[in-house]
This record gives sequence, C-alpha cells and structure tokens, in this order.
Amino acid sequence: MTVRLYPFQLVEPETLAAALDAVAGRDGDARLVAGGTALVPMIRLGLVKPDRLISLHRLPELAAIRRDGGILELGAMARLADIHTAPLVREGWPLLAEAARRVATPAIRVSGTIGGNLCYAEAASDPGPALLCLEAEVRIARSVGGRTVPATDFFRGFYETALQPGEIVTAIRVPATPGGARSGYVKFTSRSAEDRPLVGVAALVVPDSSGRWLDARIGLGGVAPTPIRARRAEATLRGESPTDAALRATAEAAAREAEPLSDLMGSADYRREMIRVWVRRLLTMLRDGTRSS
Ligand SMILES: Cc1cc2nc3c(=O)[nH]c(=O)nc-3n(C[C@H](O)[C@H](O)[C@H](O)COP(=O)(O)OP(=O)(O)OC[C@H]3O[C@@H](n4cnc5c(N)ncnc54)[C@H](O)[C@@H]3O)c2cc1C
Repeated sequence: MTVRLYPFQLVEPETLAAALDAVAGRDGDARLVAGGTALVPMIRLGLVKPDRLISLHRLPELAAIRRDGGILELGAMARLADIHTAPLVREGWPLLAEAARRVATPAIRVSGTIGGNLCYAEAASDPGPALLCLEAEVRIARSVGGRTVPATDFFRGFYETALQPGEIVTAIRVPATPGGARSGYVKFTSRSAEDRPLVGVAALVVPDSSGRWLDARIGLGGVAPTPIRARRAEATLRGESPTDAALRATAEAAAREAEPLSDLMGSADYRREMIRVWVRRLLTMLRDGTRSS
C-alpha cells in the first residue's frame, strides 16, 4: 500500500489563548493534535485531510494530574501511561488507572492522552466506561468563557462528541470514589490482548455491612455507538443482595440494553453474549473480593 502524506501547516501555540485563537473559525480544516495516536493514522490513510494541525504539546498546564480537594483533575494532555502509574490515581481512582493500563500497547499509552481518547469518541474506548462509572465531567474552553459537560453527555454518537467548533477540552474532573467502593475493569478482545475491546466492562459497587449493594454502576464499551452506562441493569442491583441469580439477571439486562454492531471483530449477537459473560464475571469477582482494582 502506498502511504500518501498530505501537506499541512503545524501550529504550536504556547498559551491556551493562542491555541483557542488558532482553532477559531477560519477557512479550511484545522485539527487539534494531542498524542496523535488516533489522528495521525487517519491522516496517513487520507481519511482526514487537515490543512493545519494545532499541537497542544507546548501547554504543560494541560498535562497535570492533580487533586483539587476530593476531586481528581486530569489535564486533557495527561498521558495514559502517566494516569496508569500515578500513585494519586492508583490509590484514589484505581478503576481509572486500570482502564488506562488496558489501552492498546505501551507505545500508544506513552503518547496517547486522556483528552485525545475522549475527543476521538471511539465506542470501544477503554477509559470511556470507567469515566462514565466514576461520573466524570469534561472541562471545555472556548474563546469566550468555558463550560463543563458530564461525561455522559459528552459522548453524542458514533465518533461524535458535544464539542463545538473552536472548543478545546482542557481537563477531566473525576469526583472522589465513594467510600468502601469496589471497582474493576475487564476487557475482552477476540484477537489480540492489545486490540480495542470487543466488550469492555467497568463496574463500581458500594456494599453495606449486610452485603447489599447500596450503589451499583456499570459502564460498557464497544457495544453501542458510544461508551454507555447500563442504567437499567444497574437498577436491578441497587439496594439488593448480589446473589448469583441477581447477577445473572443484571448481566441479561445489560445485554438487552446494549446496541452492538457487527464488525470484523465479532457479530452483534456475539457481543451481546460476551456482555452477559463479562458483566456477570466482573460483578461476581467484585462480590467475592477476588478482583477489586
Ligand atoms: C493501533 C491502535 C490501537 C488502539 N487501541 C486502543 C485501545 O485499546 N483502547 C482505546 O481506548 N483506544 C485505542 N486506540 C485509540 C487512541 O489511540 C487512543 O484512544 C488515544 O488515547 C488517543 O489519544 P491521542 O492523544 O493520541 O489523540 P489524538 O490522535 O491526538 O487526537 C484524537 C482526536 O481528538 C482530538 N483532540 C485531541 N485532544 C483534544 C483536546 N484537548 N480538545 C479537543 N479535541 C482534541 C483531535 O483533534 C483528534 O480528532 C488505538 C489506536 C490505534 C492507532
């Protein structure tokens, strides 16, 4: 295959204001580039042909991983490898650290950013379901003011987000994990372990002293046009004892709630079956304490 590179201008702003100015409506197709792990292959394949690339690399303030009170604030340029290894994230938000660790290969994690992952808006994102479970919010800057959007509203459709032209994601804010919570992320791939998930399942449950689950949250990736919360499935568990029968019913509800597509990795029916298997397995592991990130 011949790879054709299309000419583009590279812009490297040194302030957020300059970056916003660079993306503000002008003629042509300007694209932001973070780690480039998703965008550069698309350019090489000619799927997008931007005439300007605006790099966010010279904005170190966008790469910070820090605590703001009880909230974890990840700069949009925080790299997946750093999110996985940061003690702050591993201790306070282990579900997110685990999901970041499961993205592709070390080479992609060392360049790929959390902001790029969200903005690429791939249905089969690994961090997506974890961020939905953790009820994260997305901070967005624009030339005048800014706004904050819940992650559930940020994903709009197949590779589509709530971002408007001229906007830049600056941070992802993740509320404190509830006290006593158990959480985990499992990723099932049908070919290689480094693939995108055929089905990704994130779950967070909060048991009480009698073993009932006060809260149960389930995020799914790869099984609908966007990462989703399986809210009807969650409702079957909240306030209930997680018996084997209850977990089977929850997994069945999650499989019904999904809207999987068929592709080269697997058919829609196979994906539904894998949801049944992996939702039940993960919830069982969380109940039995055999897996908790
Ligand atoms: C071979 C391969 C395997 C992959 N496997 C996985 C996987 O297993 N799991 C997974 O989750 N993902 C996977 N990905 C997808 C992707 O590489 C990662 O999701 C990565 O995190 C993207 O981040 P990036 O910084 O490289 O984004 P970029 O490629 O730089 O950007 C992606 C998109 O987001 C936009 N963008 C980036 N930052 C911002 C911002 N701050 N504000 C507004 N828009 C922005 C860009 O304009 C572009 O449209 C894979 C990709 C490849 C090529």
